[in-house]
Amino acid sequence: MLVVMKAQATPDQIRAVCERIEQLGLRPHPLPGAQRTAIGITGNKGEVERGNLEELDGVAEVIRVSKPYKLASRDVKAEDSVITFPGTDATIGGVNLAVIAGPCSIESAEQAFAIAEKVAASGAQFFRGGAFKPRTSPYAFQGLGLEALHIMAGIRKQTGMRIVTEAIDNESLEQVAEWADVIQIGARNMQNFSLLKHAGRLRKPVLLKRGLSATLEEFLMSAEYIMSEGNYQVILCERGIRTFSDHARNTLDLSIIPAVQRLSHLPILIDPSHGTGRRDSVLPMARAAIAAGAHGLTVEVHHQPEKALSDGPQSIYPTQFEQLMSETEQIAPIVGRRLERGIRVAAVAD
Ligand code: PEP
Ligand code: MN
Repeated sequence: MLVVMKAQATPDQIRAVCERIEQLGLRPHPLPGAQRTAIGITGNKGEVERGNLEELDGVAEVIRVSKPYKLASRDVKAEDSVITFPGTDATIGGVNLAVIAGPCSIESAEQAFAIAEKVAASGAQFFRGGAFKPRTSPYAFQGLGLEALHIMAGIRKQTGMRIVTEAIDNESLEQVAEWADVIQIGARNMQNFSLLKHAGRLRKPVLLKRGLSATLEEFLMSAEYIMSEGNYQVILCERGIRTFSDHARNTLDLSIIPAVQRLSHLPILIDPSHGTGRRDSVLPMARAAIAAGAHGLTVEVHHQPEKALSDGPQSIYPTQFEQLMSETEQIAPIVGRRLERGIRVAAVAD
């Protein structure tokens, strides 16, 4: 169920509706929009007993949301969600494209700073790097853990770039939430419902990657898990799915971009690195992603990919990243978007 408030509804009226929903034993989710606030209702087993919600001051209408995902649905919020990063001009969603760049894994301070300097010089606003790695083999490099988080905090301080890194379980989530600006939940964890709920209790943006064989509905239901706990700052990311195709590591499903945008107000980013697994395919698929309307990209960049401890073959060189930024900048206006290079950070924020 969804309570649509009138455009001129006051904060007091919105609060009163939320209180009434709570009195009914349900959970209100106020979602402010450009024109009006909508209040999603969750926690109901069947049809919501309307409890005269329609008669409360400031209410325009009470409607049923027929989709299984409610808070992630466009029915609840017509305009695109834009995630902001306080103290900076960076955003994810909306007109400005977001570019997240960095190595697959943080391997050492030297490696991370060398790459960070390059991607910052090309104007990336977000720096990525794995501290906790979900590896197929238990014998493969598992990440530097907390040490990597400290290294990335140093990079944020030095360059201003906001930090994106993955939490692989509830323990690492606590540490990642403390140090990162965006918490990544990886493809293999897309249906780790315990992790999704824990991330939903935080108030930090979550980058949710599509599972290797997840349908769009399953993907949006995973976003709903996070949102149902009160964290509405969810960013979707397509990173390639398993198909019979054998020319690439995965099949990058760019057709999910318009499909997501039809059904949901959440931002959708594309990861052409994991999506193809091949350095020479990253730039072409990045171009296609922007042309298809993605809100941005997340790409793996390494200054010495032949020595990388993970995902070297799909990591692009810093010079290729510069080309990717330059081409993205040129394609963006054709599809009504813009690429701002560099991040502006207010003096008070670190
Ligand atoms: C990653 O971003 O390094 C990663 C492990 O991604 P995914 O979960 O999409 O495989
Ligand atoms: Mn990787």
